[in-house]
Amino acid sequence: MARDLSRRELMHSIAAGGLVVAGTMTPLSSLLAYQDPKAVRGAQAPTAAGARTSATVVDGKVIQPRRELEILRKTGVLVVGGGPAGTAAALSAKRLGVDVTLVERYGYLGGLATGGLVLAIFPLYGGNNKPVILGIGEEFMKRLDKLKFGIVERNIAPDYPTIDAEAFKYVLADMVLASQVNAYLDCWGVDAIIDAKGSVRGAVFESKSGRQAILADVVVDASGDGDIYAAAGAAFEKVKDNIGLDSRIGNIDIEDLTGQNREHVTGNRDKIQGGRPTRGTPVVAFEGHVGSPTPAPHTNWINMKGPVADGLDVAEVSMLELKHRRALWNNLEKVRSKPGAEQAYLLETAPQIGVRLTRLLAGVKKLTLQQVKAGTKFKDVIGYSGGSPEFQIPYGCLIPAKLENLLAAGRCISAEMQVAETTRLIPVCWVTGQAAGIAAALSIKDRCKPRDVDIDKLQSELRQQGAFLG
Ligand SMILES: Cc1cc2nc3c(=O)[nH]c(=O)nc-3n(C[C@H](O)[C@H](O)[C@H](O)COP(=O)(O)OP(=O)(O)OC[C@H]3O[C@@H](n4cnc5c(N)ncnc54)[C@H](O)[C@@H]3O)c2cc1C
Repeated sequence: MARDLSRRELMHSIAAGGLVVAGTMTPLSSLLAYQDPKAVRGAQAPTAAGARTSATVVDGKVIQPRRELEILRKTGVLVVGGGPAGTAAALSAKRLGVDVTLVERYGYLGGLATGGLVLAIFPLYGGNNKPVILGIGEEFMKRLDKLKFGIVERNIAPDYPTIDAEAFKYVLADMVLASQVNAYLDCWGVDAIIDAKGSVRGAVFESKSGRQAILADVVVDASGDGDIYAAAGAAFEKVKDNIGLDSRIGNIDIEDLTGQNREHVTGNRDKIQGGRPTRGTPVVAFEGHVGSPTPAPHTNWINMKGPVADGLDVAEVSMLELKHRRALWNNLEKVRSKPGAEQAYLLETAPQIGVRLTRLLAGVKKLTLQQVKAGTKFKDVIGYSGGSPEFQIPYGCLIPAKLENLLAAGRCISAEMQVAETTRLIPVCWVTGQAAGIAAALSIKDRCKPRDVDIDKLQSELRQQGAFLG
């Protein structure tokens, strides 16, 4: 007769060699493969009291005392930020055989593409609908192809696919673990380390382990906000942009469409004549918007535009986090008033706020709207952005005008704001991330500054890693 196992009996059955998970026998050894066999639960050996490191109030001012920092690691390439640009940089650099360390402030990889619930991946195609984003970005999507409910609407130019955030977190965790990149999560980059000549030598991090330093030959700033290059004193332009908060609605079978006269309609794509999917067009004002389909069944995604604000101002960002979450809940009540959505529920609001642009590097080159419109070709091209027409991105946009030993990648590279509105998009961040990672590794191997990397070698390695350079 079936009966509940006692806790002791369960432990015995596990110890006997396996645990039944969803009908399959998963060996205990694989479930616990990452556990330190010497780890002891409970009280640990006492640690000596450390020196007091707290700040003090002196004459009404808060003073941080000078102190020596523990060195967490010495590495070749240090990548700060594990979003689209940072993961692409770390994985690409590692393929050249150098030591790579990737540090991310949250507990998962993917940045806005996962934690920000930015699920639509565009622009992937050039003016002629030819795919221009290949290389590591295409590798990511091929991995997603293999996962059930990982990605929808793939390879149907000029439309673009929508991904599942959890599937992408899994893909990135799996690739990073397999690559032997050293990864630290829940670890926030708070300062740059510079030497007597003013060159970058690493970064300082805060985590539950305290304040620690990572020394590096080269740093890739993929924080999205240029946190490390700003701390190191590189010149940049500070910009404000729309800040939204993306979300998903569950148990829903209708979607937002653009009707014949471009008016907003909601319904079933097959039933509304002339209705075209909005495909995640950012919602400006909520009117019961229901969003667009995702790989997960009966699940929609709402991409929010949000107001223009300062993504580097903690008070503004905090207020928007609260107001956006309230607005998304209130929107749901309007959603439920639509036929077919009565049982819809708010599946999740993005764990992290949708900050678009904050700092833009003053680089060796600044990509201008005029260059983009003119279809300018660059000798130091490192890849393309999709769009109509597609445009080239030069290596000089990743290199600070003056600072040494640091490259920027992702949404904080050197470009005019109108161009950054495109270079900040996920596929383009993969392109600049991959190039920054390879260039950083080459600068170590060839013992040169990132700005002096041999462009032919960089382009050849990019091609070898599958990138499209025209
Ligand atoms: C609301 C919204 C909608 C969007 N819609 C689309 C869209 O439909 N399609 C599209 O392609 N793109 C879209 N984008 C743009 C795109 O999501 C981002 O620009 C892109 O993810 C940027 O990649 P990144 O790697 O440069 O930065 P991020 O994705 O921001 O990643 C940076 C990473 O660095 C980490 N980090 C930051 N600071 C530190 C630090 N000091 N120390 C350690 N780690 C740090 C962050 O936690 C994050 O993981 C949208 C953006 C927003 C906000």
